[in-house]
Amino acid sequence: MSDLPLLTWVLVLAALVLGILAGHFGWGKRWPRAFRNLHPDYLTGLDYLVTEQPDRALDMFLKLMDTNADTIETHFALGSLYRRRGEVERAIRIHQNLLARKELASEHREQALLALAQDYLRAGVLDRAEGLLQQVSEVTRLRASALDALRGVYERQHDWQQALGTYRQLAHINAAPARTVAAHYFCELATAAIERGDISAARSLLRDARAEAAPFPRAALLRAQIAERAAQPELAVRLVRQALAESPALLQEELPHLLELAGTAQRDTILAELVAQADSRDFGELKRLVFAAIAAGLGAAPPLRASIDRVFSQDAALQAVWQGVPAHSERIAQEIGALLTQAEKYRCNECGFSGRSFYWHCPACHSWDSFEAYAILKLR
Ligand SMILES: [Zn+2]
Repeated sequence: MSDLPLLTWVLVLAALVLGILAGHFGWGKRWPRAFRNLHPDYLTGLDYLVTEQPDRALDMFLKLMDTNADTIETHFALGSLYRRRGEVERAIRIHQNLLARKELASEHREQALLALAQDYLRAGVLDRAEGLLQQVSEVTRLRASALDALRGVYERQHDWQQALGTYRQLAHINAAPARTVAAHYFCELATAAIERGDISAARSLLRDARAEAAPFPRAALLRAQIAERAAQPELAVRLVRQALAESPALLQEELPHLLELAGTAQRDTILAELVAQADSRDFGELKRLVFAAIAAGLGAAPPLRASIDRVFSQDAALQAVWQGVPAHSERIAQEIGALLTQAEKYRCNECGFSGRSFYWHCPACHSWDSFEAYAILKLR
């Protein structure tokens, strides 16, 4: 309990105090008199809370709190708070406790069903979440929230066709997320089509992806994959370069692949073109290219030498080791390259999840396009 920001707990505690007092004595009564008549169970519950016995405190509060209009929001606030803290079982208890009350107004019952479904989604109990969300999506007032959570269920089940269908239902009520999300669904379906060898279906799905979002580097990379399978390496190289031009953040992931596709004979030409392209944009992109190349073991490649020296000369720490001596560049590049191969390469800029693999869809927080080349970013 101690990891929750103090202010949040103070606010929740205040809400509980007000809620319980309201439930027991009604608003409008004079507080000093109400305090004098305070229910002893309330004080015991508060005591459990402050002595960090959250389950006993929760039991006590659930027993004490009436679910009248004045206190209902406190239940939802507490449930949502527990869910966000990852204490899903407590959130589920709160929402089930609400639903067990016969006197609960229908709008509160629907809200509690939605909250319970969100608890199940967070807990990974996807079939229960799906059933409840389908039920709640019939309620006009809650339709957008229910469909959006349902989209999350299908994403986690990797049921991209259903996710796309739900996305369209959301679009119909002007509540859909960015169109790049739909483009990712088409790319997921295209990936599955490529895997089962249905290339014409894959091409058609990638056209659909580009109709949703353009430029869309993931679609270019999948088209490159199709070209590679069809023994069209030149086309594959062109498409990977297109993806990199659209999204330089992919350099760390795709540069080794690009150079492998191009073959040794083309390597230096392509590196020189990439340097010229990065140079024409901004220094940050040149740094990104330099570190991606170093990570790929290309610290000694001739087209990069001048850029590596330039990047090192701009960084105080590297400058101290480099000291303008060209012979030092290669050794420093090698050491940085070794560090980068050990490092956690990627990080989600939404939730901080990090690892050595790149994801379009964060496995922790389920955001799209949130992965950044972290090790390179730290060096930049
Ligand atoms: Zn994340």
